[in-house]
Amino acid sequence: MSKIIAVNAGSSSLKFQLFEMDDEHVITSGVIERIGFEDAIFTIKYDGEKVIKKLEIKDHSQAVELLLDTLIKRNIVASLDEIKAVGHRVVQGGSYYNQSVIIDEQVLAHIDELKKLAPLHNPAHLTGYYAFEKAIPSAGAVAVFDTAFHQTLKPKCYIYPIPYRFYQEHKIRKYGAHGTSHFYVSSRVRDLLGNPEHSKIIVAHLGAGGSLSAVKDGISINTSMGFTPLAGLMMGTRSGDLDPSVIDYMIEQLGMDMKELISILNKESGLLGVSGVSSDFRDVERAAIHGNERAKLAVDIFFRRVIAYIGRYFIALGGVDAIAFTAGIGENSVTSRKEILSLLSEALGIIIDDEANEFGKGERLITKPESKVKVYVIPTNEELVIARDTKRLLAL
Ligand code: ADP
Repeated sequence: MSKIIAVNAGSSSLKFQLFEMDDEHVITSGVIERIGFEDAIFTIKYDGEKVIKKLEIKDHSQAVELLLDTLIKRNIVASLDEIKAVGHRVVQGGSYYNQSVIIDEQVLAHIDELKKLAPLHNPAHLTGYYAFEKAIPSAGAVAVFDTAFHQTLKPKCYIYPIPYRFYQEHKIRKYGAHGTSHFYVSSRVRDLLGNPEHSKIIVAHLGAGGSLSAVKDGISINTSMGFTPLAGLMMGTRSGDLDPSVIDYMIEQLGMDMKELISILNKESGLLGVSGVSSDFRDVERAAIHGNERAKLAVDIFFRRVIAYIGRYFIALGGVDAIAFTAGIGENSVTSRKEILSLLSEALGIIIDDEANEFGKGERLITKPESKVKVYVIPTNEELVIARDTKRLLAL
């Protein structure tokens, strides 16, 4: 019996899933939110039951202690020694890592160095790491980088057309993100295609954050996020791609400062910014259905941006065997998939299977046999990838 916990520590949150690796089943999962506040929220799911508690949690150490105490008190584990390892999601691994690694001093130093590229995330991952190390010193630890899967991009795809010295001297380039999800989903699609030697797959990870990737023969050849997750698609609150002159104009003509502006582009733009309704796709979709014109515009821009990337990647891959939808919107929004596919149908010869799209559940094909491109819905499972990598690297 080997139990592994997959952890995603954010600046004020900590998500977890505890796996029994013998059969890869999830023993318990949950999230601690609003860490650092008096009214932090601890949600844990176990045995079909969901318990939510509000309490003060000062920091990540206390959050981890609370989590581990709960595991013992609820008899989820008899002793903490049963947890053999912790797999940590790390947002930014820069050019250092093209795969997951066992965490040692060097890895910790790199994660710390790369906080300049991920100022909210990497420090939180380190805090999470130290909290678990203190609580279960016997457990091994592995870092699974969100950027690793995209390290296969060629320079022609990751170099920005700005003076080359910025890449050479400052490592300014595209890194991408959501790599663990793109890897998992594209691997599932390859399995479903019968693991052919050659495959051309486009993954549309459409959640609060969103990105697309082009995966050729299992290798990521391009992705829509960039130096940071601000690039690419329109997202819940992020603008995605934008003419940089807009920034100059807002600073020079509107007197805004850079920090304020970047915060607007990250937190007040996207679906929220255009619709003025919400960053949550469900709310925006509902408002659009009820006749809110700006909500309708926001949804339309979102779809246009998704199909624009699919078009680009179709060309880059030299065709496409399969497109996969994943994450909150991709997995759950019947109308988004239908709308996006109808915008693509003429160019790509996609014929949607409405029954499968609307009434099917979980992982499935949603196109008819005569469709030129297969389209799948694949619920992503980043935690499983984290747990598997952790088990493999630590030989558990
Ligand atoms: P993240 O992991 O990036 O925080 P998720 O993958 O959970 O985000 O996706 C959240 C998004 O998915 C939200 O915009 C939410 O509105 C959307 N979403 C979730 N369920 C549905 C649904 N049934 N229909 C439409 N959108 C949905």
